[in-house]
Amino acid sequence: MTLARTAIDSPNLPILSAEGVYLYDESGKKYLDLIAGIAVNNVGHSHPKVIQAVKEQVQRHAHVMVYGEFSQRPQQQLAAKLAELLPSSLSCSYLVNSGSEAAEGALKLARKHTNRTEILSCVNGYHGSTFGALSTMGNELYKSPFKPLLPDVSHIQFNEEQELDRITDHTACVLMETIQGEAGTIAPINDYLIKVKERCQSVGALLILDEIQTGFGRTGKMFGFENYNVIPDVVLFAKALGGGYPLGAFTSSEEIMNCLSDDPPLGHITTFGGHPVSCAAAIANIEILSSDGIVENVKDKGELFKSLLHHDLIAEVRGIGLMLAVQLQNADQAHRSMDICRELGLITDWFLFADDCLRIAPPLTISEEEIDAACKIILRSLDRIG
Ligand code: PMP
Repeated sequence: MTLARTAIDSPNLPILSAEGVYLYDESGKKYLDLIAGIAVNNVGHSHPKVIQAVKEQVQRHAHVMVYGEFSQRPQQQLAAKLAELLPSSLSCSYLVNSGSEAAEGALKLARKHTNRTEILSCVNGYHGSTFGALSTMGNELYKSPFKPLLPDVSHIQFNEEQELDRITDHTACVLMETIQGEAGTIAPINDYLIKVKERCQSVGALLILDEIQTGFGRTGKMFGFENYNVIPDVVLFAKALGGGYPLGAFTSSEEIMNCLSDDPPLGHITTFGGHPVSCAAAIANIEILSSDGIVENVKDKGELFKSLLHHDLIAEVRGIGLMLAVQLQNADQAHRSMDICRELGLITDWFLFADDCLRIAPPLTISEEEIDAACKIILRSLDRIG
């Protein structure tokens, strides 16, 4: 084995090409993709406008300098587009390579801005796999072997209002997902996010919302937090941001972001962050999402999945828009169902902290007919194991 693999029992499907909502393997077999590279390909695979934007940028230039040293048009244009879409307090984006790096940058930003050290995140939260991001992970199984991790990080239960008094004037930031993804799609209830924001504001802590799965239309709004009447102090993007190309960002106000350029300057350094080709893809991606009416239909498509997925083995289908979890009775059912679905030409997946669920996070462009076909395959798989 020359290519390192950390999921040694994964299917290792030899994918040759991808278009729209379909993946094709080396034998020519076609798969309906219900997971979009884990909430990445929101506009579908190989969208012609994304390909065109990438081609044009490749011909102009690829990497030219470490982030922030030169003025690169794709970076400038992308930051301006994000500022246009976001509330006015989220006007300044630092572009990075990945979701983990966005989390790292935001945690540094919060510590520097508040001059405090304590970081609070949530039980079953996921923000990435690098040391800082891993420290905020709310799951012992996946982080224990890598200890010691970052000091002064603790966890609160998502949706538990009575724990909010643990946010104090020692807290630099609270980092949480707008909707918990790897926990198995757990949405905030009862104005929880508003209450978190109010508590943060009252003690001077920053609220960092991780929009890495919820961003760019997945929940039926351009950004997940728009469903909950809350505006974070810092927001994290990656996954769908780059339209299939590697890109992340952490975004805040200019005032807060400025603390990374002062005393000392270069508060975060990244060579490839905001790669011009990824930025060109991201701009095309946002244009497609903004103009093609894709986001407006996402909630109805989610409801269609929910209305079609009824079976004795399904306890519930949770989530919002096209960020759904199909709750089965145990992990064995989920894994057997996934295997049968793959055999029948459908790709679904499990969740890191909820392996008894099937993941539904397809390209947002999936049609009603394709949703119908996907649900029939899932139900057939459950009939076969039931
Ligand atoms: N935050 C969330 C909510 C995620 O789902 C992920 C990736 N699964 C990350 C952060 C980390 O992103 P990346 O894998 O790009 O580092």
